[in-house]
Amino acid sequence: MSGGQASHSTMKALLVLALLVLAAAAFPTDPRLKGAKVVRVVPQTLDQLHHLHQLLLQGRHDFWQEPRALGSPVDIMATTRQLPQLAASLEQRGMEVKEHISDVSRVVEEQRTQRYKRSPQAMDWTAYHDSDTINRWMAQLASDHPDLCTLETVGKSYEGRPMNLLTVGKGGADKPGIFIDGGIHAREWISPATVTFLVNQLVTNSSAHDDLLSSVNFYFMPVINPDGYDYSFTDDRLWRKTRSNTSQRCKGVDANRNWDFHWMEIGASDNPCSDIYAGPEPFSEVEMRVVRDQLTSIADIKVYLSLHSFSQLWMYPWGFTSSLPHDWRDMDHLAREAVTALTGVHGTSYQIGSLSRILYPVGGSSQDWAKGIGGIKYSYILELRDTGTYGFLLPASQIIPCGEEVFQAFNVVANFVRTIYTSR
Ligand SMILES: [Zn+2]
Repeated sequence: MSGGQASHSTMKALLVLALLVLAAAAFPTDPRLKGAKVVRVVPQTLDQLHHLHQLLLQGRHDFWQEPRALGSPVDIMATTRQLPQLAASLEQRGMEVKEHISDVSRVVEEQRTQRYKRSPQAMDWTAYHDSDTINRWMAQLASDHPDLCTLETVGKSYEGRPMNLLTVGKGGADKPGIFIDGGIHAREWISPATVTFLVNQLVTNSSAHDDLLSSVNFYFMPVINPDGYDYSFTDDRLWRKTRSNTSQRCKGVDANRNWDFHWMEIGASDNPCSDIYAGPEPFSEVEMRVVRDQLTSIADIKVYLSLHSFSQLWMYPWGFTSSLPHDWRDMDHLAREAVTALTGVHGTSYQIGSLSRILYPVGGSSQDWAKGIGGIKYSYILELRDTGTYGFLLPASQIIPCGEEVFQAFNVVANFVRTIYTSR
């Protein structure tokens, strides 16, 4: 072998090594997820349910589906280290522990590889996109449809990312409004994907929605926790909270426990390392202050929709108590009509009810604030697809079907606002 050949193969080896290092940087491996599993138990007794609540509040495990009621499945992610002890404590109380997702890191890696195989810059609904791609797409949409869309940067996140509000409509500022936000919980990627799907349907198909667009205003904020959302692309796929430095030990706050309405009263934690940490004080998170300021400054919002995942639920207040608002029947009725339309598209079923009754009690949620302080009559949290097969790791191939069905529900809500509030 000549010296030239040797140096050539050395170069080649170095190049391969450099590529591997680059790939490792682009595909960071989260040690927490290596070999992690999601296990499912179904509590059948109050004692079992209580035990699960205790585990949730301890904050050591990542609950993908929190304990809700007897007979409702609870999904818990456990690392290889945690699993034996967790399984023992569940089985000791008579619960059967079933493996639901056998290797979380494998699913994350598979989906990440698929995403990097394609052009990451172009906005579409066959892949999930980071906040920068979504922002650039909204800017383009607004410049392509100046008669219909206004894009405003209404604030900046903790780490300085722009927080954008896209207003869609052509009837003037005094028309009744519907406010839709997404991405309050970072890892719930189907949420921003669905919000942008709704925007795209409404704007690029505007002639079909002419009546709506001249009588209702739509306010979209697809990614209201952009720091956490982007972090779930770059570092930790299962990150939920914001990225603020509220304590020495752990970063971030559960943005949907941070609102100043029955804050920290129930279903929230004062432990900064918990995934349901309510923050050092109400509205400690700048991103939630930005959204709050929009909800208070925009005139005449009739409906607030906040998109989450997963579990397929359409929920209204209250979260902080099992009592119902005096006008809950109105909210329930509209929810039922919307869900009927949703189910009509692909047969997907959603459960309907108040947050505290069909999920679990939660203080400091945006939905409760929107109704209790914001005075918005119809306030909803949607938990989108699925019911746990993939959970937060919903494959991108489900974005379009999810968007299609949610759009029909959205259409029912929008037409309701048009007919009820614009007869003057
Ligand atoms: Zn959520």
